Amino acid sequence: MKNKSPIQRRDFFKISSAAVAAGLTGKLAVGQQTGPSAVEEAAEKVGKLPRRKLGYSGREVSVILGAGDLAPACREAGILCGMNYWHKANRWMRDGAPESILKNREAHYCQVNVDRAGPDHYRGHFDEDQHVAFVREALEKTGLGYFDDMQLHYGYHSVEELKTDRSFIRAFDRLKKQGLVRHLCLSQHSYAGNSRVPGGQSAAEILTGVVEDGLYEHGQFIYSYGADPEMDAFMAFARKKGFGTIAMKTSRGIGRMKEDPAFMAKLPEGVSPHNALVRWLTTGTLLDTAVIRVRDLNEFVETYSGAGKPMRAGDARAIAMMTEQADRTACRLCATCQPHCPEQVPITEILRFERYALDDHDRYKANRLYAALDRQGDRCVSCGTCVEHCPLNLQIPKKLAEIHRLLA
Ligand code: SF4
Ligand code: SF4
Repeated sequence: MKNKSPIQRRDFFKISSAAVAAGLTGKLAVGQQTGPSAVEEAAEKVGKLPRRKLGYSGREVSVILGAGDLAPACREAGILCGMNYWHKANRWMRDGAPESILKNREAHYCQVNVDRAGPDHYRGHFDEDQHVAFVREALEKTGLGYFDDMQLHYGYHSVEELKTDRSFIRAFDRLKKQGLVRHLCLSQHSYAGNSRVPGGQSAAEILTGVVEDGLYEHGQFIYSYGADPEMDAFMAFARKKGFGTIAMKTSRGIGRMKEDPAFMAKLPEGVSPHNALVRWLTTGTLLDTAVIRVRDLNEFVETYSGAGKPMRAGDARAIAMMTEQADRTACRLCATCQPHCPEQVPITEILRFERYALDDHDRYKANRLYAALDRQGDRCVSCGTCVEHCPLNLQIPKKLAEIHRLLA
């Protein structure tokens, strides 16, 4: 994979204008830096992001995707680096899509994330008319004109549901005929053993059914360092079939690692967790592309400067250390434990919210999601059954109690 054409002066000029248009100058705190010059400097340090084909359409997308909730400075730097796929572009509904994307619309792939109708992704249902209405509203508010990808957010509960309820696909077909969407995709969570989803299956099982069904072009799923044979097998299958794969929630436990001076001191010289992670994701796995959450321009440079670059010995060592560290502290969200809880505590959900709070430092999101649970961590009776089934042997009852104190 080729990369590294340096960023040209004319591109700097373009991004400066875009940053000014986006209202960045002097307003946005980015580490210790503000304004277009910081954006340009970050982009220059990262260089051009390599691209890869995504799914059946063969569209070339950056190996690291952008997102609608990426900080404006990181987004503008990303555009300058060739970031061209925008996950969750409907997040721009509040203020309209960024000027830097609108003025060069055809150069970007923008995705609308569409939820089930109803209270949440467990109890919600598909509603063709409502999905169509949401996408139209998102188009009107973002000003994007069309969405390249219509994504089913949180995915199906089972292969059976995919086969028997085609409402989402019909909504896509209607919108496609009107030229408002172009490609169909999904993000898939695991529902195996979830008390609110009878008959729920694992993400890998459902995604395999999705590929065999043949209508969706690519899928997004939870994937990070550490053994995940089920997802590795799925990715090999997807690659063979030409189905596109995108990893999300990739930074398992990194926030906690970076705040652990003893761990950081042991890392090989010149290696950082985020940089090792992006090298591994983009060159050491079967993924087509990935989403890595970054908070500011410093993290943007630290992370994306490794995109598409081979793993060095130090990176491989760091990934091994990160896996070991994360396996002691951070849930893999594999849901293996979930079917075994007699109290039907939503273990995986709660441990996902822990990651939002402790790794992403997004307490607002973690608190909000935790508050919406109908069963919280205090429903755990410490029977220990889940621990016996956790491949990491995480002390789940203790964690649930700590998270409840943190988020309740
Ligand atoms: S220890 Fe708690 S969370 Fe685990 S199975 Fe028992 S009740 Fe459920
Ligand atoms: S607690 Fe363990 S078994 Fe349960 S989802 Fe997390 S890693 Fe998997």
